[in-house]
Amino acid sequence: MLGLWLIVMLLILGRVLRMPGRVTLTMIAVLWAGMLILQLTLPGSSAARAVGGNAAGWLVLGAVVALVVAYRRLLAMLRRRAAPPPADPVQDAGLSDAELDRYARHLVLRQIGGSGQTRLKSARVLVVGAGGLGSPVCLYLAAAGVGHVTLADDDTVSLSNLQRQVIFRDELRGEPKTYAAAEAMLKLNPHIDVTPLVRRISEDDRDLIADYDLVIDGTDSFKGRASINRACVAAGVPLIWGSIAQWEGQVTLFHPALGGPCMACLFRNPPVHDAPCAEAGVVGALPGVIGSMMALEAIKHLTGAGQGLRGRMMLFDGLYGESRMIEVARDPACPVCGTQPLAPGAA
Ligand SMILES: [Zn+2]
Repeated sequence: MLGLWLIVMLLILGRVLRMPGRVTLTMIAVLWAGMLILQLTLPGSSAARAVGGNAAGWLVLGAVVALVVAYRRLLAMLRRRAAPPPADPVQDAGLSDAELDRYARHLVLRQIGGSGQTRLKSARVLVVGAGGLGSPVCLYLAAAGVGHVTLADDDTVSLSNLQRQVIFRDELRGEPKTYAAAEAMLKLNPHIDVTPLVRRISEDDRDLIADYDLVIDGTDSFKGRASINRACVAAGVPLIWGSIAQWEGQVTLFHPALGGPCMACLFRNPPVHDAPCAEAGVVGALPGVIGSMMALEAIKHLTGAGQGLRGRMMLFDGLYGESRMIEVARDPACPVCGTQPLAPGAA
């Protein structure tokens, strides 16, 4: 009865290799059909005798197995019909009908869905700098439904800002940037809270920063960035960091508490050519590219979607349309994060 043994071996193989039941069943059906054809075409041959049985026997066996399989499928179908429908995760997400409509394109994304959108709604984000990078960051965070955004900047809107800071309008010249940007964000999405903060963020703002899930730095001076980095490291809050100059930009996520570097691990001293946009110049659409990437990384970080930029930095060269990713590592001798212990469970 080699035939029966072969069937048993296929069943065991399917279990051991954890093959889908449908695959195992198909292989057995092919084997059964082969043995049946053998019995029908060459009855009494040495091969048919080795397989065992006869055509009628294999036909009966096939019919019995087919009946059992059909019966089990019927039972499963009846159970599915009798079971209550699964709870709709979107309905459970605490979103109003208007929000369900507004965020419909997020809700259909497998990586965000209702639970991710709820996380965005309850998230608290501090955006530092309402300039070229801050403009797309603020607009996309507002549009995405990030529930609580605080925007810190001590500057006012000027004519030379409008070449790239697309959140402002010409008639807002002279207005504090944070108020002008907050108004634009609320006009875009009235379902969020925006808090304008007309001042800079310094190293002393550790307690303020500790109240947020994420900080996004879109400022443009090395000294200011270094102090924001120190405050974020002290508070243990991740920092999405982007910078632009002329035609080039870079973006990453600093989070030494989870094993990634901080800004001081990579940039201990100001770069030789450190000059703000006012002196070095910057092409108008470049902050749109880098700022949008920062907003995208923020959405990913807050929803847990995909792979973030911790330990990696994306470099973009707009003049030649090139981008590349480099690995960046935490420096154990870093004067800012070198002594910070890893968070429990951090790699
Ligand atoms: Zn560091």
